[in-house]
Amino acid sequence: MRHDADGVSVNIESADGTHEVRAQWLVACDGGRSTVREQLGLRMEGTQYDGRYVIVDIVQKTQRDVERLAWFDPPSNPGSTILMHRQPDDVWRIDYQIRDDEDPAEAVQPENVLPRVQSHLDMIGETAPWEPLWISIYNAKCLTLDAYRHGRVLFAGDAAHLVPIFGVRGLNSGLDDAGNLAWKLAWVIKGHADAGLLDSYSTERVHATRQNIDYGAKSTEFMAPPNFAFNLMREATLRLALDEPAVRSLINPRQSAPIAYTDSALNGPSDFGSACLARHPACPRRKRA
Ligand SMILES: Cc1cc2nc3c(=O)[nH]c(=O)nc-3n(C[C@H](O)[C@H](O)[C@H](O)COP(=O)(O)OP(=O)(O)OC[C@H]3O[C@@H](n4cnc5c(N)ncnc54)[C@H](O)[C@@H]3O)c2cc1C
Repeated sequence: MRHDADGVSVNIESADGTHEVRAQWLVACDGGRSTVREQLGLRMEGTQYDGRYVIVDIVQKTQRDVERLAWFDPPSNPGSTILMHRQPDDVWRIDYQIRDDEDPAEAVQPENVLPRVQSHLDMIGETAPWEPLWISIYNAKCLTLDAYRHGRVLFAGDAAHLVPIFGVRGLNSGLDDAGNLAWKLAWVIKGHADAGLLDSYSTERVHATRQNIDYGAKSTEFMAPPNFAFNLMREATLRLALDEPAVRSLINPRQSAPIAYTDSALNGPSDFGSACLARHPACPRRKRA
């Protein structure tokens, strides 16, 4: 990938060989291990948590309601936290935390995973035959690039930011990136606004990521306590919640709220090159136009 003042060139590999494609802009949405990010020498910054969860999808019929279930220190897997929720087509997703001294590579071996799943299914009385579909391992990351526009390359989704799954904002925030970027890119390409408009994409969405990370980190510190103090707070919360309704929101807090772009340049008198911008439904200046 090469980019200069006029555009971007990328090599695309397909069944009939490698082609070079030249474009005005490149949206890098190539995921958490983004090749484009690596080729530009960019690094994400933030926090990675040590607590690891094995993720297992299994197929098993059940009469249970569709709901999210969580067990803390259950008899089936002492010391572990287990999450379980139903997906379509009789699939259960089961997540369980492994001990800090367990080897992650060993932890995902079927001979280590399947007995723990069986033990849990026995505990909750699920007796129908089951089979594993997918096994993986996960640790929470709160990482972001500090800017999502680098010349003519714009980063979106996991290529731009990684937020913990416990905040359920990964895919959701990627969609928000797309919604924010698409109309701005269209307006720049059509000549209705100058390229400076795209800087507001970066400012607004980096701000959103930082908020999503705050929510995600709070959930992660509950689900995978990083130290003794967080563990103690979780123990206290779980015990008190049995009798104190006021404490229960600490277990299941609000995961997200609408994000206000209070510092966005679009709120001020900046000129992005065209009065046309004020006609766009998303433009705050529309009210004054
Ligand atoms: C276990 C788990 C549970 C999750 N649960 C939730 C949830 O409940 N809610 C939520 O909002 N998010 C959730 N997420 C996060 C969500 O899955 C991701 O944030 C989302 O998939 C990121 O989308 P993306 O399009 O940015 O990246 P990806 O989904 O990674 O897509 C990137 C694409 O680019 C392709 N690609 C990469 N490199 C190249 C290349 N060089 N050339 C061509 N193609 C390339 C890849 O093949 C891939 O198809 C979860 C994640 C995990 C792991």
